[in-house]
Amino acid sequence: MTNSTQARGFHFSAVLTAQGWRQNISATLDDNGFFTALDSDNNPQNLPHIDGYALPGSTNLHSHAFQRAMAGLGEVRGNSSDSFWSWREVMYKFVAIIDPDDLKAIATRLYVDFLKGGFTSVGEFHYLHHSPDGTPYDNSAQMSLAIVEAAQNSGIALTHLPVFYAHSGFGGTAPNTGQKRFVHSLDDYEKLLQNLKNHCGSPLHKIGIAPHSLRAVTPDELSKLERLRHDIATDGPMHIHIAEQTKEVDDCVAHCGARPVEWLLDNMALGADWCLIHATHMTADETRNMAKSGAIAGLCPMTEANLGDGIFAAEEFQAAGGRFGVGTDSNIRTNVAEELQMLEYSQRLSKRRRNILAHEDNPNVGDYLYQQASSGGATALMQPAGAIGINKRADFIVIDPQLDGIPRIANPRLMDYWLFGAVDRTPTDVYVAGQQVIADGHHGDEEAIDDDFRRVMQRLLAEI
Ligand SMILES: [Zn+2]
Repeated sequence: MTNSTQARGFHFSAVLTAQGWRQNISATLDDNGFFTALDSDNNPQNLPHIDGYALPGSTNLHSHAFQRAMAGLGEVRGNSSDSFWSWREVMYKFVAIIDPDDLKAIATRLYVDFLKGGFTSVGEFHYLHHSPDGTPYDNSAQMSLAIVEAAQNSGIALTHLPVFYAHSGFGGTAPNTGQKRFVHSLDDYEKLLQNLKNHCGSPLHKIGIAPHSLRAVTPDELSKLERLRHDIATDGPMHIHIAEQTKEVDDCVAHCGARPVEWLLDNMALGADWCLIHATHMTADETRNMAKSGAIAGLCPMTEANLGDGIFAAEEFQAAGGRFGVGTDSNIRTNVAEELQMLEYSQRLSKRRRNILAHEDNPNVGDYLYQQASSGGATALMQPAGAIGINKRADFIVIDPQLDGIPRIANPRLMDYWLFGAVDRTPTDVYVAGQQVIADGHHGDEEAIDDDFRRVMQRLLAEI
């Protein structure tokens, strides 16, 4: 982590608060890095000045860190029916050779890239648990701990989501050999959670529960996982992949008599402590009812486009009051502005209209998308961030007011320009819990982190 002491406050020349843009604000923090006051102050004394434009840090609610290492490897056309399922076969070959040190090097570099891309929290949906031959490591949490250490070394806040994965398809079918590193019994999964609780002492770290999908977890197991979440008292949320592919929807109907989101709504008590990852293929009723349930939609626009998943019914979901956040999922890209741009553009392309994801109270698409995704993502990860305000953790990013060398005024048009006109202009400075983790576009340990990543990648690419 960048070597810096926690400031007791900041003076912001311009800051995007939950009440909109404000100028010349002095903010105080408590010892845990939470805002205690935000007051107008034209003559600040003794507080470090934030001269750029400060925004809440955004939330990356869905990452599979190891997949960063295979970016580009699934882009070769093999046959005319190439799809998600053939990409998954490439992924299985790749994961067979990653060890805990590899994962730590890949994830640390990735999390630094997330910080540089505007994300101050990550939800790591982690299913690579065991050694390559499928036997558990001596410490069953060894791969999880690689993730926790990567978060610590980078300085990003982490909601760790160890995945429960038991079956290769609906109906409780046995897992296949490509899945042997993922699989737990419920008893062993409970032990993993207990083990992790002993290792996640940082206030920036939370532990949630992640049933992989309805195809990998039976209804009975899903109910037991929900009970486990309350019995073990993890302070984190429940995340599940859902309705990403039409084949999954068809299989779910065949085995359960209902579509995936429909089945979840009918059988589980969904609320804001649930995050439904993708939810790409829903009927109008499912879309409306999911929005009403309060469950957060975990959208991964760049990955969903890359995998050819389909387009989420974002306009209809938003109209029904649904909340969403974004994740980078397969981590082909690592930038919040690109994810939000793709989300809006996919809507425009499918509807042949413009400026779709906005609201009558906030018609600026870039500003609306950024604030909604930051807030919804923080709820989905149960991280006390996602907005700048009293009792929120001081996770914020700083944008250069001279975006592209042109002076910009701190108003919603700044966000529109960033997301649609300057998506490659990443934050200059990034703070988590009031501590600076990126300074002038760089992380303090960047050279060593890059060296580790390069060494691991050279080996993996030679073996694959
Ligand atoms: Zn995923």
